Amino acid sequence: MKTLEPRIPPAKGIELIRNAQRIAIITHISPDGDAAGSALGLSALLWELNKEPVVLCQDPLPAPFHFLPGFHAARQKATGPFDLIISVDASDPERLGKPLQDLAPKQLPLFVIDHHITNVHFGTVDWVEPTASSAAELIFDLALAMQVSLTVDIATCILTGMLTDTRGLRTSNVTGRTLCVVAALTNAGAPFSEITERVLNHYTLPQVRLWAEALPRVQIKNGVIWTTVTRSMREHTGLKNQHDGGLVSFLTAVNKAYIGVVFTETAEGKVEISMRSVPGVNIANVAFALGGGGHPQAAGCTIVGPLESATEKVIAALHETLQQQLAANSELRP
Ligand code: 5GP
Ligand code: MN
Repeated sequence: MKTLEPRIPPAKGIELIRNAQRIAIITHISPDGDAAGSALGLSALLWELNKEPVVLCQDPLPAPFHFLPGFHAARQKATGPFDLIISVDASDPERLGKPLQDLAPKQLPLFVIDHHITNVHFGTVDWVEPTASSAAELIFDLALAMQVSLTVDIATCILTGMLTDTRGLRTSNVTGRTLCVVAALTNAGAPFSEITERVLNHYTLPQVRLWAEALPRVQIKNGVIWTTVTRSMREHTGLKNQHDGGLVSFLTAVNKAYIGVVFTETAEGKVEISMRSVPGVNIANVAFALGGGGHPQAAGCTIVGPLESATEKVIAALHETLQQQLAANSELRP
C-alpha cells in the first residue's frame, strides 16, 4: 500500500512557532467548518507544544461546531500581548477582519497557512498549498512535521475541517492522500460518523424557510443558475448571520447548470456572492477579479449593491468566462 506522502511546511514557519509563546490564531470572517476546524486544531496542537494560543475570529464560530474542543475559548476581540500571529484558511488580510486590524500596528510576525489558489501571500512566511483539501489538512501536516502526536482533540478538529470543506469527501480535490489523512485521523480517535452527522446532516428551520423563499426565485440561463436573497427574506426567516453554502451547492447540482450562484443582500447594503461550479469549470478567477477569492470550484466575494445591478454584473462576467471555457474544452459537461 502506498504510504502517506509528507507535505513539508516552510522551515521558517516552524521556526516562528518554536520561538513564540503567546500565539494569536486568526481565521476568516463568516467562519465555516474549515475555519473553525483548522483554527481549533492548530490551537490544540500548540497547547501540546506548551504554547499559549488564542483563537480569534471577527464573527462567532457557528453553533454546530460547539462540540469541538476549544470552541468556547475562541474570542472575537484580540487581548494581547502576542508574539506571533498565525492566519488559517484566509486568502487575503481583509478576510481576517478586525482581529488582524487590531494587532497589525504591533508589527508582529505573521505566518499564513492556507489552501486557496487565490492567496495573495500577505505573511512574513506564507505556506499556501492549493492541492490541500482544506486548511485543516495542513494542520495535520504541521503536526507531523513538528512531531506532535495526534490527540483525539487535534484529530477531531482537523477531520471536521476536512469533511466540511469537501462536503463529506465529495469535491473534485479529494485524492488518495486526502483519504489516507482521513484514515490516520480516524485511527487517532476522531469520530468520523459523529462529525458527519453533526455538521453535514443538519439544517436549521430558518435555513429551510429561507430555501423555501429562495427556490421560487431561481433563474437559469446559458448554463448559469442563480437566486437572490434579500435582507428582508433573511430577517423574517430568522437567518441573520448564518453562513450557508448548502443552497448554492444544491443549485449547482441541477442538470444543465455549470455554475451556481447565490446573491445575498447584507445589512450594510452590500451583496455577498457565493459561487460553485462543476469540475473543469473555474470560477476562482472571476471571484478574484471582483475582489474576493476561493477555489476553482467554490469561490466568493462581496461587492457594492444594489442586488439587481450586482446580479447583472456578475452573471454577465460568469457567462463570459463560461463561454470561453466551453469553447476551449469541448469535453466539459454539466
Ligand atoms: P462560500 O461560498 O462558502 O462563502 O465560499 C466559498 C469559497 O470562496 C471559500 O473558500 C471562501 O474562502 C471563498 N470566499 C468567499 N467569499 C470570499 C471573499 O469575500 N473573499 C475571499 N478572498 N474569498 C472568499
Ligand atoms: Mn478552507
